Amino acid sequence: GFEDGPATGGRRLKAAKQAKKAKPGSFETMGLGPMTMKGVKRKGYRLPTPIQRRAIPLVMAGQDLVGMARTGSGKTAAFVIPLIERLKEHSPKAGARAVILAPTRELALQTHKVVAELGRYTSLRTAVLVGGDSMEAQFAELTTNPDIIVATPGRLLHHLEEVEGLSLKTTQVCILDEADRLFELGLFEQVRQLLAGMGEGRQTLLFSATLPGALAEFARVGLKDPALVRLDTET
Ligand code: ADP
Ligand code: MG
Repeated sequence: GFEDGPATGGRRLKAAKQAKKAKPGSFETMGLGPMTMKGVKRKGYRLPTPIQRRAIPLVMAGQDLVGMARTGSGKTAAFVIPLIERLKEHSPKAGARAVILAPTRELALQTHKVVAELGRYTSLRTAVLVGGDSMEAQFAELTTNPDIIVATPGRLLHHLEEVEGLSLKTTQVCILDEADRLFELGLFEQVRQLLAGMGEGRQTLLFSATLPGALAEFARVGLKDPALVRLDTET
């Protein structure tokens, strides 16, 4: 209207231009907050990959999900971006709100790095608990009250045994990354134990390159009415 100063009008014009420029299915149309978007840009991601385009809105909506797509299709950011968006900022309440389980030390460290990079403009705190590092250094990380724990199942169970008062009851989101490998490596009994210690109301996400029968069966009973997002898979 005529009451708008030139600056406001200019900003409106710019916002209108950006919305017009945003391609359907781009990160800009997903309703991500500015700090998440900044992290995405900084990581150099311009357009979501197909698995990200389909999975991010579902994860943001709180839906349980099985995400299947071949190696290299961008599954990590498909759960890390909406996770950061949901958790927003550090919570002073005790206990982690998200747990990401990975089959190996290397994969957990890699995923932790992606969480740190994409979340760098938020106050979210993370801890990585993997075998081969000293328990003491990890105890220190846990005292910072991380919002997100990235771990291998065995080491996380070990911490739950050792650390007085540590529990997964506060976990609202649990992600099983590279679930086919978790299964192949015989880690699913540990995964089951960890899930049993989490709240019933949690959101559970399972990402995998393949979905062998036993894993599909697990998803059927272990997840709540999961959406299946399946794209150019390996088998
Ligand atoms: P997956 O877990 O499906 O095997 P990753 O999550 O490891 O795949 O991603 C594979 C590579 O693609 C990584 O180097 C990652 O940084 C990159 N990548 C992921 N999403 C995007 C994107 N939207 N744009 C560009 N590169 C991306
Ligand atoms: Mg992966």
